[in-house]
Amino acid sequence: MKDLLYDPNNIFAKIIRGEIPCKKLDECPHTLTFFDINPQAPIHVLIIPKGSYVDMNDFSSRASIEEQAAFIAAIGRAAKLTGAFEGGYRIISNVGGFGHQEVPHLHAHLLGGESIGPIRSR
Ligand code: AMP
Repeated sequence: MKDLLYDPNNIFAKIIRGEIPCKKLDECPHTLTFFDINPQAPIHVLIIPKGSYVDMNDFSSRASIEEQAAFIAAIGRAAKLTGAFEGGYRIISNVGGFGHQEVPHLHAHLLGGESIGPIRSR
């Protein structure tokens, strides 16, 4: 597998360091959850680890089990805190070029609040 170089100046790293603001929903020692600046659904939040991980390839390879468990737990909390838990929702994590990942810091999108439609459009 190709080595992933983490860019400490990516926008989510700046949010974690408090250099730029975010609309925070939830935080724990290992994760931060905030509202997407360009929501694609009535509920659209981003769950990120505080550690420096480029994407799910990187996170699943290098993160401790504690960090990985905290990430999953944060997704579960986000579903409850936003109310998405009731009606259903989608979790997406884009990886690399084929995945159309724009920000090179691992994030899970949680989308809900209405029907999110098919898994992909062709
Ligand atoms: P992706 O294509 O999976 O990398 O998605 C990146 C997401 O980050 C997009 O949905 C953007 O709207 C969102 N985003 C970019 N900058 C910010 C920001 N400053 N605060 C909140 N969300 C952001």
